Amino acid sequence: MPEVGVLIAAGGRGERAGGSEPKQFRAIAGQPMLLRALRPFASHPAVRQIVVALPQPWATEPPSWLADLRGERLRLVAGGATRVASVRNALAALDPGIPIVLVHDAARPFVTVAEIDAVIAMAAAGQGALPALPVTDTLKRALDDGRVVETASRSGLWRALTPQGFPRTMLERAFARADAERDWRATDDAGLVEALGETVRIVPGSPRNMKVTTPDDFLLAESLVR
Ligand code: C5P
Repeated sequence: MPEVGVLIAAGGRGERAGGSEPKQFRAIAGQPMLLRALRPFASHPAVRQIVVALPQPWATEPPSWLADLRGERLRLVAGGATRVASVRNALAALDPGIPIVLVHDAARPFVTVAEIDAVIAMAAAGQGALPALPVTDTLKRALDDGRVVETASRSGLWRALTPQGFPRTMLERAFARADAERDWRATDDAGLVEALGETVRIVPGSPRNMKVTTPDDFLLAESLVR
């Protein structure tokens, strides 16, 4: 099995979740969300190193539950103003010689081992990969005032989840292009790799692998744990 590096995007302030501390530090059933997001990678046999991008000042003064885990295998770096900048900083801190890179959102605390395994297998075969779920709702396009202007086809549409995995050289080229073109707004890493013209494939996502964004999401997450 090739060695895998994991970059955790935890550099946001999580303002939509409310509260004074970043949402990724907030507990879900007693355990900080970031720890829940980290754990399945920390215990995966292929993962050699994990780099977490945190907002300042927490990158230099992390909470004790995170500082205690810091070491060769877990690095903490400062994030940036956008998710792209945060992941780029984490990638730069990854030990050289790790050939496969997975990028995961700290806001997804329930990633499954099956998703991690499938993404690693695809990336090890030389392609970009992400877990995704088919869109099941009917899609509407609407104006700011709520007036519907179109019912869009959901055929072939997927909800992109993380972790997203890539051969390291592919991801490094994607970030170099994003830098050169000042393309810092992407909301996922596969988008940057797709812009290179590289193949990115979907693997089965888990409905449990939800993204925790709003106060309601935290309530849902709590009930998923119970
Ligand atoms: O804002 P959004 O929920 O889309 O963020 C997705 C993930 O990206 C979160 O885990 C968040 O912490 C991370 N992020 C980051 N750096 C930023 C903004 C967001 O690492 N500047």
